[in-house]
Amino acid sequence: MRAKELKGFMLKEDPEVPSDDPRAERINNFAQWAGKILKVKNLPVVKLSLDTEEAQGNHHTGGYMPGSDHIWCYAKNRNLVDMMRTVFHELVHVRQHELDMIKPGDSYPGSPIEVMADVLAGKYIKIYGEANPTIFEDSVADDWKNFLSEKRK
Ligand SMILES: [Zn+2]
Repeated sequence: MRAKELKGFMLKEDPEVPSDDPRAERINNFAQWAGKILKVKNLPVVKLSLDTEEAQGNHHTGGYMPGSDHIWCYAKNRNLVDMMRTVFHELVHVRQHELDMIKPGDSYPGSPIEVMADVLAGKYIKIYGEANPTIFEDSVADDWKNFLSEKRK
């Protein structure tokens, strides 16, 4: 997604998604696996967000601001496999920034750096999913609070 569209969203807190949530842990484990494949030097953490306004306003499910310590990932009503695909896509951008591959104006829809991120994310989510088939969830929590209360039953 476009850097110019990212303004502001990193500043928001999403207290509804606790960092010790089991899905957050699984997604961050995936990010570590992906970071090794992509040879990312400074791996950002993944911040899961239920901010529908942000997702709709900037029409994205993920984002990374160069130099930031985290990736933003929309988490509402999404299957683990989809969130992980988003995370991999953003990690490709992290690596592209590390390699200085992204110049201003390079991030339009369908641009070479976006296609690269989509292709690699599509490839590696299949490889990860084969080894970790439970990322294809049979049901998706309506929201994080419901998910947590289900877990406590
Ligand atoms: Zn992108």
